[in-house]
Amino acid sequence: MIDRKRLIIAGIVAALFIVALARTLIGPSPRGIQTDTRLLMGTLVTISVWGVEKGRAQPAMNAAFEEMARIEARMSRFVATSEVASLNAAERGTWQPLSEELERVMTLGMEIDGLSGGAFDIGLGPLSDLWGFSREPPPETPPEPRDIRKWLEFRSARTGPGIEISEHRLRLANASVGLDLGGIAKGYAVDRAMEILEREGVAHALINAGGDMRIAGSKGGKPWHIGLRDPRQADGVVAVMDLKGSVAISTSGDYERFFIHQGVRHHHILDPATGHSARSGLMSVSIQAPGSFLADALSTALFVLGETKGLALLEKFPNSAALLIREDGSRIQTPGFIAVAPP
Ligand code: AMP
Ligand code: MG
Repeated sequence: MIDRKRLIIAGIVAALFIVALARTLIGPSPRGIQTDTRLLMGTLVTISVWGVEKGRAQPAMNAAFEEMARIEARMSRFVATSEVASLNAAERGTWQPLSEELERVMTLGMEIDGLSGGAFDIGLGPLSDLWGFSREPPPETPPEPRDIRKWLEFRSARTGPGIEISEHRLRLANASVGLDLGGIAKGYAVDRAMEILEREGVAHALINAGGDMRIAGSKGGKPWHIGLRDPRQADGVVAVMDLKGSVAISTSGDYERFFIHQGVRHHHILDPATGHSARSGLMSVSIQAPGSFLADALSTALFVLGETKGLALLEKFPNSAALLIREDGSRIQTPGFIAVAPP
């Protein structure tokens, strides 16, 4: 009797050992899609990963979200303790230390500023403050015309962007300049989050941070399916994309934050030349690029520049492509843009 019991126990132990050995040799079986969502950088950020063992997917997604939160804590002008907020609070004309990371982000911002002739302007914080699109509750009326005039006068009193960077230090020219990285920081954060996922062993993922999306790999060999929002119908799509590999898509539109006052639509993408919302004849601009950082910067820049000047800027970035939607609903799609009309 005792021998029989021993035999059974030995059998169970042997079976467990074989299972454990098999798991070590062939690895745990991969799972399907796992998804998580957080509110970060003023938007809902969703991360989906494919083919990752359940126990590893959640820690990887957590680490990616933490990286985005870290970047928000450094680059948001609304976080009082952020590096950007402290640079904005510093006396104008004085040199301030600049972290290596912020310097990198700002350097691309300044490059796009230069190439766009100042239409893309990461120093328009005081104008953004006047309009207050990030306020809660959101504004319902435009700022006083005299305040916009004052800002424009102040702005023309300086030459160039009013932001100087030298030897890891930064200097803002006058009160017309304050950093607003809203058009660029989310794209940078998405790239960093994807790097973190890769470091955690995730090869197949989709990050969707409002207007900024990036994909890696596939869903078990099948492409990631992405829909681009209809600028005038929140639940409609204007294009669908089936993408594999490493691609970023960013969209800037006049529907993200806006109000209508006396029949006029005012939205959060501002034209520094007029002090008002950009009116370039476009409702939305989607950019496909190798990374979200560039896609984010270019989508905002092209929105302000409009069709002709915008497409000329795009030509300087050979691996990028665009889908522009005009105010009349017609579209312009450059040859590299991988989208089709929705079914
Ligand atoms: P996006 O949704 O990426 O197009 O970015 C819009 C955000 O960029 C706004 O909420 C502002 O924070 C900022 N922004 C607005 N106008 C400009 C501009 N002309 N150049 C650079 N950033 C801008
Ligand atoms: Mg942008």
